[in-house]
Amino acid sequence: MRNFKAIQAEFTVSRKEYITPHYIRIFLTGEQVPLIENTTIGVNNKILIPPKGVRQIHFPEFDYDTMQWKPQPEETRPSIRTYTHRGIDLEKNEIWIDFVAHGDEGPASAWAIESKPGDLLGVLMKDGKIELYGKADHYFLVADATGIPVLAAILEDLPTEAKGICIIEVHGKEDEQNLQTNADIQFIWIHNEHPQQGSKLAEVVKEQVLPEGSRSGYVAAEFSSVKEIRRYLRKEKQWKQEELYAYSYWKSGVTEDKSAAERHEENADANTQ
Ligand SMILES: Cc1cc2nc3c(=O)[nH]c(=O)nc-3n(C[C@H](O)[C@H](O)[C@H](O)COP(=O)(O)OP(=O)(O)OC[C@H]3O[C@@H](n4cnc5c(N)ncnc54)[C@H](O)[C@@H]3O)c2cc1C
Repeated sequence: MRNFKAIQAEFTVSRKEYITPHYIRIFLTGEQVPLIENTTIGVNNKILIPPKGVRQIHFPEFDYDTMQWKPQPEETRPSIRTYTHRGIDLEKNEIWIDFVAHGDEGPASAWAIESKPGDLLGVLMKDGKIELYGKADHYFLVADATGIPVLAAILEDLPTEAKGICIIEVHGKEDEQNLQTNADIQFIWIHNEHPQQGSKLAEVVKEQVLPEGSRSGYVAAEFSSVKEIRRYLRKEKQWKQEELYAYSYWKSGVTEDKSAAERHEENADANTQ
């Protein structure tokens, strides 16, 4: 049953900026930018990439009985991927989304690399504000490159008194971002040129002295890393369910739409244990 208001918007690229060699910020504009005003920076959205040559976004209809998109003709069907609402500037009438440039094997990464001003992108989002992360005195933030936008939003929101550790895996030294925060955060950057072939995130997590007392963990990364980090914190370190949000953002070797069911299932199982 649908219990939230959905935003469905068609935008065009206004400009594009390489934040680092493997990270592209795409600015989007259009009449519908004000629709996004009342959402939380850092929440996820769905982006819709039209097939090459199609100058319109054919929005799919969602079937709330089967919880699946209704089928669409292949010639006009957009590729749908999950990204993060990274920012909005109502004066400039822009929103922006940050893309890992991981090559051209995925439609979203390929689109971001090739996109130019005037290109179309559809966006679907839930309307309204949400609480993005659990509040605590100490934060334990862990991500690979795909989770930087959400961690950046959390870091920007943390109060001055907050303390924490933030572990992020990126391609190389030149991909470390200058993330803004008022909190007292120790940043640990890990380099990995081939995230599809495995990651050291879980290993580095296990080397840390973990916060005790009032704590909040947020993990957003590749499936195997998230699974292992969640197991470690919940089972070995007895973190309570409400102390940890851990969600796999992609699965190596599998496209985002194909791995969605498995990622949701794993997350749901883990959250009921
Ligand atoms: C809630 C949520 C929020 C997300 N927010 C962002 C965001 O703001 N920015 C962002 O860049 N990503 C984000 N992601 C991850 C993004 O959805 C996936 O990386 C997605 O697979 C990219 O789609 P694609 O079309 O480029 O590749 P796909 O067609 O999905 O996959 C093609 C191939 O590329 C591989 N692949 C996918 N992503 C990567 C990667 N990052 N590095 C190396 N190989 C990869 C796949 O395993 C597959 O083999 C988010 C995911 C979720 C669930």
